[in-house]
Amino acid sequence: MKITYKELIHSDIAVKNEINNTPTEDIENNINELCAWLNDKVAPHYSGPVRVNSGYRCDKLNKEVGGAASSHHLTGYACDLTCADVKQLRDIIKDNYMSDIDQLIYYPKKNFIHISVHPKKRGEYFEK
Ligand SMILES: [Zn+2]
Repeated sequence: MKITYKELIHSDIAVKNEINNTPTEDIENNINELCAWLNDKVAPHYSGPVRVNSGYRCDKLNKEVGGAASSHHLTGYACDLTCADVKQLRDIIKDNYMSDIDQLIYYPKKNFIHISVHPKKRGEYFEK
């Protein structure tokens, strides 16, 4: 597992709809923080490839994908990840790093996890 800044701002839907999903400098810092956290904390536990389904979303992109108005994707602190073993990825975070997490949401049917490292750090876990 290795997540890049580029992956966290890329969106096929933004490209398709010609939406400029370039973050401001403040948000860029948040994305870098999330990226470093993923690579420093989670990656050492999971060797297989991990795909970013959705990372940073500008307002326009967030509306396009039907994201919540208060979504942490808007601030760059959240991403949705998928891989061959999403449950294992969830367990790595759930068992070790909930104190770094604002929200961890596991979607077993859609096979991805939503991770937010927003500084509120409420340590919330949900399954949807
Ligand atoms: Zn999400």
